[in-house]
Amino acid sequence: MRKKIIAGNWKMNKTVGEAVELAKAIKLELGDCKEVDVVVCPPFTATKAVGDVISETLINLGAQNMSSEDDGAYTGEISHTMLKELFVRYVILGHSERREYYKETDFWVNKKVKKALEKNLRPIVCVGEKLEDREAGNTEAVVEAQVRGSLADIPAAAYTDLVIAYEPVWAIGTGKTATAEQAQEVHAFIRGIVADMVGAEAADAVRIQYGGSMKPGNAPELLAQPDIDGGLIGGAALDAASFAGIVKAGL
Ligand code: PEP
Repeated sequence: MRKKIIAGNWKMNKTVGEAVELAKAIKLELGDCKEVDVVVCPPFTATKAVGDVISETLINLGAQNMSSEDDGAYTGEISHTMLKELFVRYVILGHSERREYYKETDFWVNKKVKKALEKNLRPIVCVGEKLEDREAGNTEAVVEAQVRGSLADIPAAAYTDLVIAYEPVWAIGTGKTATAEQAQEVHAFIRGIVADMVGAEAADAVRIQYGGSMKPGNAPELLAQPDIDGGLIGGAALDAASFAGIVKAGL
């Protein structure tokens, strides 16, 4: 039985003070939640402060990106060492906004995934098709290429630590959610690709989150699907009650 995992991606929102307030409110609602893995991913500037707020709770700290390199002349980048120093456990990699605006390719996502796993950070690896891909009937081809590329040469044993997030780009921040059936179909497809890549045991173990306008109202149906093991939440993660409502739908 896979434990559900709900992660909040705060994106480029919240000053340190605002992030602390949000973290405190989430702590009140979810600080002792054992049944679901809860992760919050504040912006880098608030990582330390949010980590301090949630330090004695069951809430996990995450980051929104990480360099594939160890250290050195990489202006603007953040390394695994810097994240681990702040007790970060999860790191979102290959989010569609990074793929779209910063031209991150599967090659780079794969390098980051390997580095994160080597350093005992748990990657949340994002994949998902654009609207034009879906309309052209290319959803499976696009998602398969991203899964195979982003997870190339990752050993089967690592799939218990890594999380895949299926996020149809057309559903992110748009209020348009994939139906539970549409999402389940792609999740089952992704699990099949993982089985083909590294075997049935790893495919059965890997957790696959859905992301794209998930809210307390649509979360119960999405999270009830057999291959949907949680959610990666953007907008609704900026409000403690909404975020908690989604987590509670996963219980
Ligand atoms: C996301 O960006 O990962 C996301 C799912 O955003 P939203 O929930 O706002 O659609």
